[in-house]
Amino acid sequence: GDEVVLVGRSNVGKSTLMRELTGHSFDTGGKPGVTRQPNHYDWAGPDFMFTDLPGFGFMSGVEEGKREQIKTDVVRYVEENAENILAGVLVVDGKAVIDIIDRHRGNGDIPHDVEMFHFLQDVGIDPIVAVNKMDKVDDRDERLDDLCDRLGLFPPWQQYRETICPITAKTGSIEPLEAALAKRFRDAKRDEL
Ligand code: GDP
Repeated sequence: GDEVVLVGRSNVGKSTLMRELTGHSFDTGGKPGVTRQPNHYDWAGPDFMFTDLPGFGFMSGVEEGKREQIKTDVVRYVEENAENILAGVLVVDGKAVIDIIDRHRGNGDIPHDVEMFHFLQDVGIDPIVAVNKMDKVDDRDERLDDLCDRLGLFPPWQQYRETICPITAKTGSIEPLEAALAKRFRDAKRDEL
């Protein structure tokens, strides 16, 4: 597979990250929930392609039924293309993700981010979690350990550097993610030989 998909809730910084990864600049000021088609970008030469899937979860001004439809479309896209997908990057907002997960759990729901993490695993795509907006996080290690815990990984988070990648897309600090992706690319190339 040569495709890298980015999934995540609306407003976590997917478009910002996409721009950093690809060098393509495009409009991020659009109305949330409007971009429903996957956007494809070439990166790391012609061999790899990034796909930015529509953001899911709460979006102001977008009704429940439409939000559910977007998530269904994302899941279907990943299922249908799983064979070609080299890496699935789940983008989360490092500042907000724990509170959001815990709030949904408290309501007896399965939080979208947790669901998506397990969904990627279920379709055979080892997820990479891009924990964005780390510039807004003070208690970095504690926050990342909490995230591991919520995703069913045993802390400390430093054990999962190929899975848990703290980044700040806004300032272009995305090295941990680039390193994790580069590792995947190398492993995939090696497996092809
Ligand atoms: P998307 O809806 O997931 O595509 O999110 P956007 O890329 O449009 O970003 C949503 C908001 O988060 C924008 O105001 C961005 O400037 C902001 N943002 C994105 N990345 C970062 C980051 O690393 N740190 C901070 N503080 N804000 C960010």
